[in-house]
Amino acid sequence: MSFRLARTPRWVAADARVLDARVDILVDDGRIAAVSPAGTADFGETPLLPLAGRIVLPAFVDAHTHLDKGHIWRRAANATGDFVTAIQTVSADRAANWSAEDVAARMEFSLQCAYARGTRAIRTHLDSLGAQARISFPVFAAARERWKGRIDLQASPLFGVDVLFEPGQLETVEQMVEAHGSKLLGAVTYMIPRLQEALDSLFALAERRGWDLDFHVDETADPDARTLGAIADTALARKFAGQILVGHCCSLAQQDERTREETIDKVARAGIAVVSLPMCNMFLQDRHAARTPRWRGVTALHELKAAGVETMIASDNTRDPFYAYGDMDMLEVWREGVRILHLDYPFADWADAVGVAPARAMRLDPPRLAVGEPADMILTQARDFTELFARPQSDRVVVRNGVALDSAPPSYNELDHLKGLAP
Ligand SMILES: [Zn+2]
Repeated sequence: MSFRLARTPRWVAADARVLDARVDILVDDGRIAAVSPAGTADFGETPLLPLAGRIVLPAFVDAHTHLDKGHIWRRAANATGDFVTAIQTVSADRAANWSAEDVAARMEFSLQCAYARGTRAIRTHLDSLGAQARISFPVFAAARERWKGRIDLQASPLFGVDVLFEPGQLETVEQMVEAHGSKLLGAVTYMIPRLQEALDSLFALAERRGWDLDFHVDETADPDARTLGAIADTALARKFAGQILVGHCCSLAQQDERTREETIDKVARAGIAVVSLPMCNMFLQDRHAARTPRWRGVTALHELKAAGVETMIASDNTRDPFYAYGDMDMLEVWREGVRILHLDYPFADWADAVGVAPARAMRLDPPRLAVGEPADMILTQARDFTELFARPQSDRVVVRNGVALDSAPPSYNELDHLKGLAP
C-alpha cells in the first residue's frame, strides 16, 4: 500500500496509530481540528486517508547538531576514528576551507535533509574560535531567515573553555550572538584549572544578557571528567534563571555509583536538561586500534530521566570527523537510540525524547498531534514499534501544515562543487 494524500484543505487521517491509540485525525486548513477514537466520529464527505492502524508521528525537534561541520568527510576524514583526531582534523579543515560560501552550502544541504525527514526545529552549535565566529554566525542568520516557517533554527557558539581567556574571544562571541544568534551562549567544558572562573564568566554574561546556556560536557570515558557537577553547582549557587542544556556527559556513565548519583541529584535540582548523542558517542568513545569496544559511549540517560531530569536524544555530527555517517534524520536517531540506549521498555516512554523534550529545552511549542496544533505529521507504513524501528522508513510521508511535502533528501553530488568534496 502507498499513501495517497488528498491535497485538500480538509481531510481525515483515518485509523492512524498514535503511540498505543488508534484515532482519526481531522486536518482542516493546515491544523489539527479533531482527534477522536478511530471510527467514532462522522466526518461526512471529508476525504479520508485510510491508514489501517499505521503509526503517525508528530514532527521532530533536533536539539544538538553541527550544521557548520557537516559533510566535510571527503576532504577531512578522521584517520583514526577517535576524539582527539576529530578535533585536530576539524581544526585544520576549518582554518583552510570554512569560507562563508563553504559553510552556507553545507548548512543548506543538511537543512534540506532534515526537512525532508520531518524535522521542524534544529539547534546547531557553531565553531566560534576567533575569526570563524564572524564568518559562521552571519551565514547561520541568513539560513534562519531563508528557512523561516519550515525549520525553526537556533545557534549556540562553541569553543573550548580554555579559549575563553584569550584576548577578544568572549567579546567576539558576545557580539556575534547579539547580532546574529539566538539568545544562547555555549562552550565545551574541560577539567582545566580555571574551570570555575570560566563558568562564572559564561554564566555572568548569560545573566547580564538574559541568554540561555548550552554546553558540550565530559565527552570522554575518563571518570575524572566531572565538569557536569561543576556546571550544576554553578547554576545552583548563582540561582541561574535561564535554561541550561548539556550534551554528551559520557563520563557520568563511567563514574562510581555514589559520584554519579550525587551529580544526577544536582543536575535535577538545577533544572538542567540533558541531550544524549548516541550515534556520535558510539562512534568516538571506547575506540582503540585493533581492540573491540566494550562500551557504547552513552551517558546514564535512564538514571537521569528517573531522577526527573529532562532527557532527549539528537543527531550531533553528520559525515564529518566526529561522526562518519548521519543524515539529519531524527527517525534514524530514535531508531539507533532505541538500540544503543535501550529506549524500548516501553517504546512509548521515550517518544518525547525526539520532539516534546527538545522543544521544551529550546523554548519552542512542543510538536503534538493535538487539536489546534499545526498538522505537522510523519506518516509511516509501520503498525507497531518493531516495524517502525526495523526499517529506515525511507517511504515515510512528511506532512507540514496539512500538506504532504514533495521534497526528497538532496543528492550528494550537490556538494561536489565545494573544495575537496568531489569524489
Ligand atoms: Zn556536539
